[in-house]
Amino acid sequence: MSILVIAEHDNKALNGATLNVVAAAQKIGGDITVLVAGSGAQAVADQAAKVAGVSKVLLADDAAYANQLAENVAKLVASIGSGYSHILAASTTTGKNILPRAAALLDASMITDIIAVDSANTFKRPIYAGNAIATVQSDESIVVATVRGTAFDPVAAEGGSAAVEAVASTGDAGISKFVSEEIVKSERPELTAARIVVSGGRGVGSGENYHTVLDPLADKLGAAQGASRAAVDAGFVPNDMQVGQTGKIVAPELYIAVGISGAIQHLAGMKESKVIVAINKDEEAPINAVADYWLVGDLNTVVPELVSKI
Ligand SMILES: Cc1cc2nc3c(=O)[nH]c(=O)nc-3n(C[C@H](O)[C@H](O)[C@H](O)COP(=O)(O)OP(=O)(O)OC[C@H]3O[C@@H](n4cnc5c(N)ncnc54)[C@H](O)[C@@H]3O)c2cc1C
Repeated sequence: MSILVIAEHDNKALNGATLNVVAAAQKIGGDITVLVAGSGAQAVADQAAKVAGVSKVLLADDAAYANQLAENVAKLVASIGSGYSHILAASTTTGKNILPRAAALLDASMITDIIAVDSANTFKRPIYAGNAIATVQSDESIVVATVRGTAFDPVAAEGGSAAVEAVASTGDAGISKFVSEEIVKSERPELTAARIVVSGGRGVGSGENYHTVLDPLADKLGAAQGASRAAVDAGFVPNDMQVGQTGKIVAPELYIAVGISGAIQHLAGMKESKVIVAINKDEEAPINAVADYWLVGDLNTVVPELVSKI
């Protein structure tokens, strides 16, 4: 078995999601090669070479890969992919953008969002917003799959000593162009990697109140901040903070849901959290089905009281 893992990075550092994908690759078993497609990304390749369990790193360094344009990276993956039994990427926006295109170019169907490896070609994946788990088998000669990071404990970032080899760029596919990006700068931890997440729902009432009530709690706990879709749709916070089926999937050690009812689409994004605390004035709210600790009360008084005691 030879497995190609597509590295996720920003040309400077390897994103932690790649460590979870390598963990899934280890469960499949075989030689693990990490592909770093970037521009000025030697440091990323060097980091990838140190990841435990990685036997080789391929570095494609070209301006065409500077912004991870999916059309360009997919062309590269397809050009080298036929030499591998498996091609894996994280189930992130970037992975989900690149891998289907690469699979199509390789004429292979793909499996998305695997959460367990049963064998080299049999995997488990959630369906119906995580309410059922499907076991799927691939008959393809190349298994192309995205991996849900929260389902696999990351391998160690250090300890490996893989060789780094350069691979030829396949250049600009010429069908897309990077124009600009707006990145929200935050001092807080990244939502999907945070140990603690404080999320607010429609119950917080407004964007202003979201910050008045939840920022002090997140500050005290060093937590990332999330939200329900209702809070995002109401404009309380930006949509990159949405947790759930159509938002981000998180599994922190502690998830605090404030003024969130617990719709299945929200639970799909957080129910694997190790400890779940819910603060809600409605003792019948469905989130109590998954909550380990359940605080019934008005968030506007309960949360400041909690903050004062931490
Ligand atoms: C296809 C599809 C995809 C979706 N994807 C997502 C997704 O990714 N993520 C997501 O979150 N949702 C998603 N949804 C929406 C989901 O169905 C719910 O509508 C949404 O999660 C509700 O958000 P909420 O819990 O904040 O709001 P509500 O359901 O309105 O709940 C608000 C809660 O706040 C409590 N509350 C109100 N005031 C207070 C107070 N003063 N103190 C304490 N508690 C208070 C209420 O008791 C209530 O339980 C999706 C829906 C669809 C159809």
